[in-house]
Amino acid sequence: MIIPLLKGLKLTLKYFFSKKITLRYPEEKWPVAPRWRGRHVLTVYPTGKIRCVACMLCATVCPAECIKIVAAAEPDNRKYPESYELDLGRCIFCGHCVDVCPRQAIEMSTVYELSEYSRESLILDKETLMKPPAERYVSEKRKAG
Ligand code: SF4
Ligand code: SF4
Repeated sequence: MIIPLLKGLKLTLKYFFSKKITLRYPEEKWPVAPRWRGRHVLTVYPTGKIRCVACMLCATVCPAECIKIVAAAEPDNRKYPESYELDLGRCIFCGHCVDVCPRQAIEMSTVYELSEYSRESLILDKETLMKPPAERYVSEKRKAG
């Protein structure tokens, strides 16, 4: 009877004096790998113009069929997405959309706090996707311009 109790106390004492790993979330965040597949971002040129040329490759390759694009053309015939919707509620964060993009127009940030109260809120439109999701978002391509 006393042996299990002593074993329990020994375990408690071991962890009592060891380094604490608890984080004060959400004030403290757990660091993620630089290549973490988090919330998507549609990248822009330094001028603010969207890089995407509405080629539809990302929507075609997406196994979850969660990207919807409506293409339009500028007077010089350059295509751009009139609307771009990405449903995070369906996304499986495989990264295929990023890999296939010929313009590096879509990236995945390190942002992982994606909870919402409704499925509709998980559908991100073009304007939302063009905004960097948080100050912790770091993109080498954006830094390079
Ligand atoms: S990460 Fe995968 S599932 Fe999500 S939008 Fe891209 S291709 Fe589709
Ligand atoms: S994000 Fe890339 S792959 Fe998707 S439509 Fe735009 S240019 Fe094409």
